[in-house]
Amino acid sequence: MILHLKDTVSQQEADKLAESIQAFHVVSDGKSVVITGSGVKEVPAELHGKVDESWVFKNDMQLASREYRNETREVKIGNVTIGGNTKNTLLIGGPCSVESEDQIRESSELLVGLGLSTLRGGCYKPRTSPYSFQGMGLEGLKLLAKMREEFGLNVITEVRDATHVHEVIEHSDVIQIGAKAMYDQGILRACAKTQKPVLIKRGFGTTLQEFVQAAEFVLSGGNENVILCERGIRTFETGTRFTLDLCGVAWLKHYTNLPIILDPSHAMGYAYGIPDLARACVAMGIDGLLIEAHRNPLVAKSDASQQLTHVEFTELLKTLQPVANSVGYKMV
Ligand code: PEP
Ligand code: MN
Repeated sequence: MILHLKDTVSQQEADKLAESIQAFHVVSDGKSVVITGSGVKEVPAELHGKVDESWVFKNDMQLASREYRNETREVKIGNVTIGGNTKNTLLIGGPCSVESEDQIRESSELLVGLGLSTLRGGCYKPRTSPYSFQGMGLEGLKLLAKMREEFGLNVITEVRDATHVHEVIEHSDVIQIGAKAMYDQGILRACAKTQKPVLIKRGFGTTLQEFVQAAEFVLSGGNENVILCERGIRTFETGTRFTLDLCGVAWLKHYTNLPIILDPSHAMGYAYGIPDLARACVAMGIDGLLIEAHRNPLVAKSDASQQLTHVEFTELLKTLQPVANSVGYKMV
């Protein structure tokens, strides 16, 4: 249950009241909001006379639901805003991994040349094998921060586990929680304590409900800047790396109020399919697209088969703008 407290209740009092009923208290738009489990169906006795408005839910998808807030939440990434009434589709580009200063600078130059604002690049890579490239770690984060400084780009990078979550929060503009890390409570709780945007990727065996529950950890902990990212789920099909769940995207758009970014690169796993998929994603009217691109995919240290060349990335962007426009959006 979500309860909006009356303005006459001070924040200190709201904290105490929430604690007394084992509920969360967050301040949103200057309002004290108390969130209990969805099992609570009536205003608790402790809060009688102190509530302005309340919502009852059938499950724990609460703050993220359109039943609670119908409008899509706005999230600011540097000087770009997605969600709300913006109809912006943010194109995030860059390599799977930060590999060297040279390499990430070429990626930055590509984006700036195309008028794009947001650079991706993993530094702590959640690899399937311990023998694969594991990422440059803190050294990579510092390179991203340098690119932000030099080019005025926003940077998004992933956190693999709770041991380095604070370094990632410090050095990035958007914190990416990967498909393998989205259940990590240490990461989710740490991300709830910052106000930086958090992009949560759907685990490849994660139901839509579980996916949204991960977002609820961050929202109920006090960070409203949450973005969902569909990146493919595992099905019986092995011809492609994963299966991009566009039905799931339609479901998320219908039931949740969070901005949605799609990642066809990790879903497809092969560069040849990514331009077509990217256009299909944009045609759904989405808040963003995440595409991996590398100056020389053949020698990329991770996800070599799916990264576009810089020429392919440039050509793709040209075809995305009219698709976005046809559904009332614009690529930014
Ligand atoms: C990535 O974005 O490089 C990545 C590892 O993604 P995912 O968590 O979706 O596998
Ligand atoms: Mn990757």
